[in-house]
Amino acid sequence: MRYFYNRKATADASCGLKMSYLKKRGMLTGEESIEKIVWTSSMRGTTTTIIVGVYLTDNPFAILMYTVTDRDGNKTDYDDKISLVTTPCNFGGVRYWFGCPWCGRRVAVLYLAPGDVNFKCRNCNNLSYHSRNNCSIARFGVISREIDKLRSEIKRWSWRGRSTRKVRRLQALERKMRALSGPVTAGIERFTARLRKNC
Ligand SMILES: [Zn+2]
Repeated sequence: MRYFYNRKATADASCGLKMSYLKKRGMLTGEESIEKIVWTSSMRGTTTTIIVGVYLTDNPFAILMYTVTDRDGNKTDYDDKISLVTTPCNFGGVRYWFGCPWCGRRVAVLYLAPGDVNFKCRNCNNLSYHSRNNCSIARFGVISREIDKLRSEIKRWSWRGRSTRKVRRLQALERKMRALSGPVTAGIERFTARLRKNC
């Protein structure tokens, strides 16, 4: 397995799973395929083994199985289910993408950043800024768009003295938004503080 380097200093220490790699290995044809991928980081001298299973059913998905070793040497096994998204190709057939499990965006590469335990898109990892808060910010954006959409769709707020299903969904999203706003505000504050320091 090729370990690919990125010019951004922090990105090269991450494991990147490319959709093009799965395609090259013939994993995007047929119904089910499993492969083992080993990444070796020459910089840190560590290896990461990940087992990828691709299942091309009506709702295609990939299963990523890997072990993360923390700073104290404790190993924990993880398995992530990642949904796959398709877009039509110009010349027929479909093109596959990963659906980022954090922001839902359609991406060609998912990364497992050092110190992290889940695969995420570049944005959610915020690989170039070292910040962990970008994923909250991305989710914040997704949720606030969803709230706007729901609000415009709601025609009836209650039915027989009870909130309608859409209203209950809206309330749940608003609660989520409030829970997220703490870390997001903290993240923005840290970011502006860093900007000020660099000026
Ligand atoms: Zn993402």
